[in-house]
Amino acid sequence: MKRFIWLLLAALWSVPAGAQGKLNVVTTTEDLASITREVGGDRITVEAIAKGYQDPHFVEAKPSFILKLQKADILIVVGRELEIGWLPPLIQQSRNAKVQPGGEGYLDASLHASILEIPAGQVTRAMGDVHPSGNPHYWLDPENGKKIAKDVADKFSERRPNDRAVFEKNLAAFTAKVDAGVKRWLADLAPYKDTKVVTYHRSFPNFAERFGLNIIGYVEPKPGIPPSPQHTLDLIAEMKRQNVKLILIEPYFDSKTPNAIARATGAEVIVMPPSVGGVKEATDYVALFDYDVRLLVDAIKRTGAK
Ligand SMILES: [Zn+2]
Repeated sequence: MKRFIWLLLAALWSVPAGAQGKLNVVTTTEDLASITREVGGDRITVEAIAKGYQDPHFVEAKPSFILKLQKADILIVVGRELEIGWLPPLIQQSRNAKVQPGGEGYLDASLHASILEIPAGQVTRAMGDVHPSGNPHYWLDPENGKKIAKDVADKFSERRPNDRAVFEKNLAAFTAKVDAGVKRWLADLAPYKDTKVVTYHRSFPNFAERFGLNIIGYVEPKPGIPPSPQHTLDLIAEMKRQNVKLILIEPYFDSKTPNAIARATGAEVIVMPPSVGGVKEATDYVALFDYDVRLLVDAIKRTGAK
């Protein structure tokens, strides 16, 4: 008992004077949670709403998410309307002023990221369902991952000024880890520059631009629109014309159409996770790229894709 009391007192003393406890962070995706964990270290707790093996455009809203948001100090979102189909009512129903858009605890991670495919002119439904504000899968460029981390560090420092030095140190360590990774990934893929691929959804433009893949088409006719017979026939013809050997699909899409296209073209279907948690090996942000780059290099070698 004496020992217990001593431990209890030690635990209390270890909380520095003026400390407000750990920041309770909720992120919409596991990618953001991973980056947040690196930056926040032991000064925060973080939980992601969507799992990495789910389509982040279409997440089933559960009451438990509202409870998480009620207790959150900070909410970090991918933005660019990625979560528009499911997040706004959850935020609203949480009645937590801190995490409402514009609130002190709300962070849109896309603020300083480089965003591709921003539509010029008027946006119409004919352009597809889900990317009206540019491509929201920007975390798949590690340079954007570093920008996200910087914004997260700034937000944490704003909320917990006493811990600024900790967040800055963690940010520097994460940035160095990503930089080392980028060197490795670029070197691994350098011999296969401009390899032609098809992807299911427009998840990988940032990845392709950074690492030199040439995406010549998509299984979806438009973002968020399921495959149609005519589009599939056109895609098969184009793949044959350009001799495309790889079809990359995200883990949450039906492989029926991709498999049919593969049979018609002699290409191979590769399930490539766009998110941390998409496969069990993708345990964190850096591990995701390690996994995807290894997967691609192996597939390119195996199929002789060019
Ligand atoms: Zn998308």
